[in-house]
Amino acid sequence: MIRVHTVAPGSLGAALGLAPKTELLAINGTPLEDFLDWEFLSADEHFMLHVRSPGGEEIEYDVQRPEGWPMGITLEPPRIRRCGNHCDFCFVDGNPENLRRPLYIRDDDYRLSFRYGNFATLTNLKPWDLDRIVAYRLSPLYVSVHATDPVVRRWVLRNPEAPAIVPQLAGLAGQGIRFHTQVVLVPGVNDGAVLEQTLDDLYGLGPAILSVSVVPVALTEFSKHDVVRQPTGAECRAALAAVAGTAGRAVAERGRPWCYGADDLYLQAGEPLPPAEWYGDFEQRENGVGAVRYLETRIAEARDGFKALGGRRIAVVTGAAMGPLMPQVLEGLARASGASFELIVLENRLFGPMVTTAGLLPGAAFHEALRARSDLELALLPAEAVNDDRMFIDDMSVDALAADLPMEMRLSYEFADALAGSGDGAVRSPHGVGG
Ligand code: SF4
Repeated sequence: MIRVHTVAPGSLGAALGLAPKTELLAINGTPLEDFLDWEFLSADEHFMLHVRSPGGEEIEYDVQRPEGWPMGITLEPPRIRRCGNHCDFCFVDGNPENLRRPLYIRDDDYRLSFRYGNFATLTNLKPWDLDRIVAYRLSPLYVSVHATDPVVRRWVLRNPEAPAIVPQLAGLAGQGIRFHTQVVLVPGVNDGAVLEQTLDDLYGLGPAILSVSVVPVALTEFSKHDVVRQPTGAECRAALAAVAGTAGRAVAERGRPWCYGADDLYLQAGEPLPPAEWYGDFEQRENGVGAVRYLETRIAEARDGFKALGGRRIAVVTGAAMGPLMPQVLEGLARASGASFELIVLENRLFGPMVTTAGLLPGAAFHEALRARSDLELALLPAEAVNDDRMFIDDMSVDALAADLPMEMRLSYEFADALAGSGDGAVRSPHGVGG
């Protein structure tokens, strides 16, 4: 069942009289199961829409959509497809107790893979799902492959029923579906010869595989350390060698690297990152692949917008993963803006020091680091550390944090968004300064 969440004033939805909590039942007689059905079936200019109003009345609308007039409705969040795997490195097992309930949900949802780029394993697909992927052309999908050897993959996923991934990808590829793929590197399980085979098999699937990334497994203090460990520097270097071998072949034969190591893999290997050009369109930057080079590129592009910052004292607060990589980024920013930047690297005391990504830093950590820093005029915090409701992972709100800091605070994905003054509504100025 899908229900209306909001209706924009002046939209077609408002003109029809749709209201929050209206159930959207069917279009042209086809029952609506989820947001995909709604989006694809309501894309026509003319359709019959069957709804149940919040008061229980069933209504059929003959919808004629004039060109360019949006429906203007958002839907209540979909019921997330649960994961049937039990990976040793699962982030849910790595969570401390007493976080928000959604953080304990193991999701594995091809719909969210298509919509938001979440990685899915495709192990929980029913024939009906496969039909929908093809019918709605849900492409590209983001797929966690981990290993193409079915036995190893089942071991990694701890799922004896996981279907073989190569035939699954090949079948969908034959129907025009494309994939970005990843291998989470688990030392002693899917590295070495298994990794080489996986990269070979994916390469052999041809252009349907748009990219593959190799990402070192990330663990927290609470993970199952008796059964899984992080790769050593030497293991990361070996994985990078496998990546380089495949990427070299791809450059020679297909004109682009295709196979990438995550920034973290380079960091843990103690090797320098490739140049920005290596990453092409930075297609897996959200997965931490080329993220640093992408930042540098965005800063260089936006440098003219930084001029008003001259002389300001600005803190950039981030997690330990980005700590070693940030000085080179901030040097470029200081040159472009004339401002002085201080890098503040926070240890994650909620998940433990092994968790180094900025996105999992709790609000309390920012508060503790910044509350007494009245010498600073502006603090940039990683926007990925807050959710859509503007809450940090420890349920501190952005507004509550901003109200208790002595400097202006802005959330930023890539500096250029916050520093060039354009912002995206994420700018917070507790004392009415700037913004
Ligand atoms: S696929 Fe593995 S890591 Fe992802 S949610 Fe499922 S069990 Fe957790």
